Amino acid sequence: MSLRVKQANSSQSYQVVIIGGGPAGLSAGLYCSRSRFNTVLIEQGIIGGQITNAERVENYPGFPKGISGIELGRLIHEQATSYGLKTLLAEVTLVVPDRNRNVIKSSEGDFIAESVIIASGSQFRKLAVPGEDRYVGKGVSYCATCDAPLFKGKTVAVVGGGDSAVTEALYLSKFASSVKVIHRRSQLRASKIFEERATAEPNIEFIWDTVVTQIEGDGAVKQLRLKNTRNDRISILELAGVFVAIGSKPNSAQWRELLALDEEGYIVTDELMETKIPGVFAAGDVRHNSARQAITAAGDGATAAISAARFLSF
Ligand SMILES: Cc1cc2nc3c(=O)[nH]c(=O)nc-3n(C[C@H](O)[C@H](O)[C@H](O)COP(=O)(O)OP(=O)(O)OC[C@H]3O[C@@H](n4cnc5c(N)ncnc54)[C@H](O)[C@@H]3O)c2cc1C
Repeated sequence: MSLRVKQANSSQSYQVVIIGGGPAGLSAGLYCSRSRFNTVLIEQGIIGGQITNAERVENYPGFPKGISGIELGRLIHEQATSYGLKTLLAEVTLVVPDRNRNVIKSSEGDFIAESVIIASGSQFRKLAVPGEDRYVGKGVSYCATCDAPLFKGKTVAVVGGGDSAVTEALYLSKFASSVKVIHRRSQLRASKIFEERATAEPNIEFIWDTVVTQIEGDGAVKQLRLKNTRNDRISILELAGVFVAIGSKPNSAQWRELLALDEEGYIVTDELMETKIPGVFAAGDVRHNSARQAITAAGDGATAAISAARFLSF
């Protein structure tokens, strides 16, 4: 489903240009346009961002019965455009900073902005096996915080061996009857403290030296096809859900020369979402230490917009 986009003109000057139309960018857009700043949001893909992949979002406040990710994105967009936010479908390729006259280069031309909010998000690393894309939201998940309650009393697997995989397994163990941690090596990369906690949980079991080769189902995930990396033996694991926890990567390649990034490429900001360049802010999943949730991204977006407003007032 594509969302209606009110087109902005390229080669124009704006007070604020927002890069990315996920919860962070849209919330920043809502705050900026409601504060009557001439604002354009540039999105290269789907308005709503990653959350549009969520079949049901049950942890975004205000929706006691949950809401589909597409609908959530649509509603925030509608709310922001009702205050005058303009949106443009284009890929931003470069930001050339210049105090109060930053140049934003995009596939649809150049823009001038007094302030820039980068909300370009991140992407979960995929297993890239058959069945993965087909069953996203139907048993394949990248976020235990988001989806664990859907697997109450069921068997699930977590794929990965780092801190995030073990943290996901520990969280899932409070809901699922059985959690299998599938790791391609014979020992974890996770911190000792997490490993000890996971080993002590009676419903967490480790499957070592094993990779997932296929996710199979029948409308929803039913089983994994596994391969032992030592002896190539194939086995089947029946379950209801598989959580892929092999990391994520930020959409930050374009900002590498411009901003301070952490070792994984996430943008470093202070608590006001300020980057090292005055007037350039970053918000949401692309930011170092983000909790990578729709609500935290939206909160970052609001903070970035308030900081941009302060910057524009001086
Ligand atoms: C399957 C799935 C289920 C999820 N379920 C939940 C849930 O239940 N609850 C929850 O809180 N969170 C959930 N999340 C996580 C949530 O979606 C993210 O935390 C949130 O979307 C991050 O918002 P963001 O605005 O920072 O980034 P994103 O949503 O990633 O949006 C960034 C946007 O920027 C655009 N962009 C990137 N680079 C450029 C560029 N150069 N030019 C123009 N545009 C660009 C991208 O196309 C993207 O649309 C889920 C995620 C997935 C994948």
